[in-house]
Amino acid sequence: MNDAAAIAELQGLIDAAQRVVVFTGAGISTESGIPDFRSPGGIWKTSAPIRFQDFIASEDARIEAWKRRFALDETLAAATPNRGHRAVANLIASGKAVAVITQNIDGLHQAAGVPDDQVIELHGNTMHASCLTCGQRYELGPIRAKFAADGAAPRCLWCDGHVKTATISFGQSMPTAEMRRAEQATLAADLFIVAGSSLVVYPAAAFPELAKHRGATLAIINREETGLDGIADLVVRRGIGDILGGATGVN
Ligand code: NAD
Repeated sequence: MNDAAAIAELQGLIDAAQRVVVFTGAGISTESGIPDFRSPGGIWKTSAPIRFQDFIASEDARIEAWKRRFALDETLAAATPNRGHRAVANLIASGKAVAVITQNIDGLHQAAGVPDDQVIELHGNTMHASCLTCGQRYELGPIRAKFAADGAAPRCLWCDGHVKTATISFGQSMPTAEMRRAEQATLAADLFIVAGSSLVVYPAAAFPELAKHRGATLAIINREETGLDGIADLVVRRGIGDILGGATGVN
């Protein structure tokens, strides 16, 4: 299928739908310069993820996690929403889409103009931090400065708990409220569009599966094969910006 045919098919599905839900993964942000995990050259080709249990158990693991986070500073600061993010924001603003469920932690959907209450962040957000014991929120600026000065992993000023970016690591519990909201949105959807996810991380990947089983049309835009291509109504193995942008009239 060429770009024009894929755009026309997706546009037809969007026109026919009443309640679209968009589900995004790291692939929607690669066009903003943020590498994904599993593409060739993705982050995990060079470093294995740090599991939550290791973060809790080991000061070395915590220090390594913070080093990795600060190594991404320049990339994240330079990243701005791309055509794919703008297309999603347009679908939301027009009322066609009710929510975006994202595995991303970069805040780019909000930066593109999607209201906070219509972005469901399944894996949290890396642009701030929080205490794992009392939940106190921390901005990264002061943490960065102290880490540069003493090289120690940050502790909570109130309860001495471990402070971690507000993201969900492997082995960490999923956020209850976000999981519930994502399920509600998924059950309400008549068109569920996946953009830029390998669909191998569960429970996140269960949402497109659920949408399809509950009768929604499932469209997947992803350069590589995904685990759910076999049950999808439309599979487009091309760049998200061109396809989603083209189908929504966003440049
Ligand atoms: P993934 O890396 O497993 O899969 C990304 C997929 O996107 C790949 O299959 C790739 O082929 C596809 N892709 C990349 N660029 C594309 C493009 N321009 N057009 C079309 N397809 C494209 O990512 P995932 O499924 O989101 O799961 C990995 C985890 O990574 C998530 O839990 C997420 O929290 C985390 N993560 C987030 C970011 C971010 O916030 N930007 C970046 C890296 C990883």
